[in-house]
Amino acid sequence: MTSFALKTFVGLRQASPESPHHHHSIALTKPIQSPLHSPAKYSESLPENRAPESLAATSESPSLVAAQLVAPPPRLSRKAVLRRSSSSASSTTASQCGGAIPLCMVGEFDLPLDIIDRRVTKMKMISPSNVAVDIGQTLKPHEYIGMVRREVLDAYLRDRASACGASVINGLFLKMDMPQSSTSPYVLHYTGYDSKSGGVGERRTLEVDAVIGADGANSRVAKSINAGEYEYAIAFQERIKIPDEKMVYYENLAEMYVGDDVSPDFYGWVFPKCDHVAVGTGTVTHKGDIKQFQLATRKRAEDKILGGKIIRVEAHPIPEHPRPRRLSGRVALVGDAAGYVTKCSGEGIYFAAKSGRMCAEAIVEGSENGKRMVEEGDLRKYLEKWDKTYWPTYKVLDVLQKLFYRSNPAREAFVEMCADEYVQKMTFDSYLYKRVVPGNPLDDLKLAVNTIGSLVRANALRKEMDKISV
Ligand SMILES: Cc1cc2nc3c(=O)[nH]c(=O)nc-3n(C[C@H](O)[C@H](O)[C@H](O)COP(=O)(O)OP(=O)(O)OC[C@H]3O[C@@H](n4cnc5c(N)ncnc54)[C@H](O)[C@@H]3O)c2cc1C
Repeated sequence: MTSFALKTFVGLRQASPESPHHHHSIALTKPIQSPLHSPAKYSESLPENRAPESLAATSESPSLVAAQLVAPPPRLSRKAVLRRSSSSASSTTASQCGGAIPLCMVGEFDLPLDIIDRRVTKMKMISPSNVAVDIGQTLKPHEYIGMVRREVLDAYLRDRASACGASVINGLFLKMDMPQSSTSPYVLHYTGYDSKSGGVGERRTLEVDAVIGADGANSRVAKSINAGEYEYAIAFQERIKIPDEKMVYYENLAEMYVGDDVSPDFYGWVFPKCDHVAVGTGTVTHKGDIKQFQLATRKRAEDKILGGKIIRVEAHPIPEHPRPRRLSGRVALVGDAAGYVTKCSGEGIYFAAKSGRMCAEAIVEGSENGKRMVEEGDLRKYLEKWDKTYWPTYKVLDVLQKLFYRSNPAREAFVEMCADEYVQKMTFDSYLYKRVVPGNPLDDLKLAVNTIGSLVRANALRKEMDKISV
């Protein structure tokens, strides 16, 4: 009997220097002791001594670590993480990110409160003409948006994965060889960095039975399966240490700026961190002008961040839509590698974690807890569930972005609408809890009328402005 190992970049078989014989050095695992263990109904049983394993090609990222946490021991007897590292175990490759997470993520992923820098309960939405609308008035006392530093969140998740029995491998995934049959392994090639190699990279291989590609927007796993490209935005962010007295203003408050100056198709933000703020913006359509948009965002927040010192600069692609292909054989993509960031809000942390978990669950279930080799159909269940659950969310946010981020008058209308308590409640409820909240029919009707009114006014204003600029 074999057991199932969920790995984020690891096999039950130990990583070893590249060797043609490595394939045969298979480690047997302990029998499964899960209560879910049921009599075998194999569609394809494993060859003797072959232990099915799954793998995600990255670590330190929510999607990866969530994948491991789906099934702590004894359900999964061994787990491991491959984390990218340039040269040494101590170097950090934390994701570049604003770090805003919804409340439901804290509970769902059991995050400790001390890794949350700030609990944002107030949000200012600031229009192109600098009209500021306070949103968050409908929040209940226990509700907030969590602000984390990714280096803190990722390190916590990695350590927890390790404490749950995962082996963390410092290594850069390079490529993989495809299996020769439905039961033979994928051979992953990576450069390993550890104390044995003295900080100098060493080429190694690893054999695994399934791969969860959680390696972000520039995913090499996606390339390995010819997953195709997606349109992407570029996001730019500066961490700015501002004087303590200025930090008081951002105690529990975040700002979102909209306008052609800060971004033609997204928004600029100031998010509070432990002792500094993150100021950033993004764009799909005018990537070459990102620094100019960043300057404009800083300028808009100028009086509040005056005297600040830039302590870190970050820039990274953000996917705009899922890749044409997210699955091939026993390889599935999750998080940014798959392309799961929402339009309009640019949110991706929760979706990365959630997709990692869903994918891992599908593998655990499909393998019948390790008794059976998984096949493409098992992993496809994750995609089906994902699309069914989140497709409406992505679609609604896509439409909102197209409606409201297209011109300054439309943005003024958007900010005006945000003053409505009903809009705030609906927006916060769906953001914080990631579920579509049933509305009140009368309020829905009022909202529809107000939206149309705002858009008509925005359109009329745009036409007037076009005439002026002719
Ligand atoms: C500036 C900016 C601000 C953002 N702000 C927010 C926000 O406030 N809230 C929000 O929800 N989302 C935000 N996002 C989006 C969010 O950061 C991503 O959607 C999220 O990080 C995706 O997680 P992931 O685990 O899929 O990928 P990533 O976070 O990109 O993690 C990928 C991991 O894989 C590792 N890796 C990559 N290649 C390899 C390899 N070859 N071998 C081994 N490891 C590898 C990387 O080191 C990294 O640890 C922001 C994005 C940007 C760029």
